[in-house]
Amino acid sequence: MKLFDAHADLGYDVLDKHRQGRKNIIKTDHLEKLIQGEVFGVGMACFFKGDEDWATAKAMVSTLREEILANADRIHLTTGELWDESRINALITVEGMGFLKRDDEKTITWLYDQGVRIASLSWNDENALCTGVKGTPDRGLTLMGKQAVRIMHRLGMAVDLSHTNEKSFWDILAVDQGPVLATHSNARALSNVDRNLTDQQLKAIAKRGGLVGLVSAARFIHPEAGQNTAANLAKHGRYIADLIGVQHLCLGLDFMDYLEGYQRNGLDLDNASQSQNLIHALRQEGFSEQELQAIAWDNIVAFLKALPQQKTMPSHHPQFITKTTQL
Ligand SMILES: [Zn+2]
Repeated sequence: MKLFDAHADLGYDVLDKHRQGRKNIIKTDHLEKLIQGEVFGVGMACFFKGDEDWATAKAMVSTLREEILANADRIHLTTGELWDESRINALITVEGMGFLKRDDEKTITWLYDQGVRIASLSWNDENALCTGVKGTPDRGLTLMGKQAVRIMHRLGMAVDLSHTNEKSFWDILAVDQGPVLATHSNARALSNVDRNLTDQQLKAIAKRGGLVGLVSAARFIHPEAGQNTAANLAKHGRYIADLIGVQHLCLGLDFMDYLEGYQRNGLDLDNASQSQNLIHALRQEGFSEQELQAIAWDNIVAFLKALPQQKTMPSHHPQFITKTTQL
């Protein structure tokens, strides 16, 4: 079954390998596995640990975008508005914006113009915008972070809540009513790790019309080694769907098999070619074909289509014309 994986660190991988002197990484290292797994939509994340500068951030987004466009016969660069059934649909996303120091609007607008429609303010670290799950627990969103959320929402960019600590999570939701989601987090009730979401957080995301993406990282599925299977990840799917509704569920598998020093994800969910194992497991959990299609594809596509699409920037910045129509 055709599926959309809302979180894969391909931007990071592409720049990393370009810097090692290799080229065309998506085609040589990823395309085959994506096709085998019927992954026809991918949130290609530009992942930043937190100490990167703007030059690195810009290089990662640009290099990823160039690779996507260079493979236009197989990959369609989408901004969520236009989709191509015959190719893999790639959405550029950003994980962690520690590179933002000041001049948010210009920087976020540049990201938007490159096609970014989902971004998280931080990874696990804490930065000038907000605090990740490994940061100071009582430190949340900063004033600059609040401004960034407003800019993102005004442009039509969803805020990804997967890595923010609980204080930042609630602070971000309090800023405005713009689109939010957690691209790669499971239910904390089933695996008690800080990257999974509490029932209250799951309900709050649903109340805002957001989505939660099932993630295949081992401990996020199950605390015990040997239990991190597609079948147990499907139990998170069942739990979340029963709590907030199947319309709020999607997939954000976060495979890491291609990264140096990676730790194994799910036993039968370790790389993109195994993605269908989760669909089978969800089917075993009793989801109907229509529900499976909603989880695998329809929910995230509808979410992205509903993001406001800017044709031009706000009037006080008339010099920025988005390239949306050309993507
Ligand atoms: Zn992540």
